[in-house]
Amino acid sequence: MKIAVFPGSFDPITIGHESIIKRAIPLFDKIIVAIGKNNEKTSYFSIEKRIQWIKETFIEHPSVEVCEYSGLTIDFCKEINARYILRGLRTSADFEFERSIGQVNKQMHPEIETIFLLTLPEHTHLASSIVRDVHRNGGDAQQFVPKAIKLD
Ligand code: ADP
Repeated sequence: MKIAVFPGSFDPITIGHESIIKRAIPLFDKIIVAIGKNNEKTSYFSIEKRIQWIKETFIEHPSVEVCEYSGLTIDFCKEINARYILRGLRTSADFEFERSIGQVNKQMHPEIETIFLLTLPEHTHLASSIVRDVHRNGGDAQQFVPKAIKLD
């Protein structure tokens, strides 16, 4: 069974994330959207909301699941028997960042492959941090998140 982990903060999930996951559905038997618990970062939206929004977005796609994890992504992959890590690439800055993590992960666990999908051009400018800023300052953040969810 081909299991992929799509790790991130998803604070909140955006239409950029949604698009990457939907495009990856035909490639894997199961995609686990894995929300990393980062002790140094406090999230803007609660973990309960972030999980609920991802569930609502993929309600019609039973091969997509969501869960929370802590520790190294690579260790979590081993724990659940996932051989693939899925990541989106927006810009060359993403590439440089991802290259280091991907190569370190490869050195630690050569059997796990990181698979990259290029972001659609219309999503390249989107980031959860920008959506949070727009939301925090009373702008229309709704247009950047999946249709299925309603930010409060
Ligand atoms: P992190 O907390 O690691 O920055 P995010 O929750 O922002 O993670 O994103 C998780 C994954 O989604 C990463 O692979 C990231 O490159 C990808 N991603 C983020 N924003 C977009 C976007 N607008 N379009 C496509 N992929 C994206």
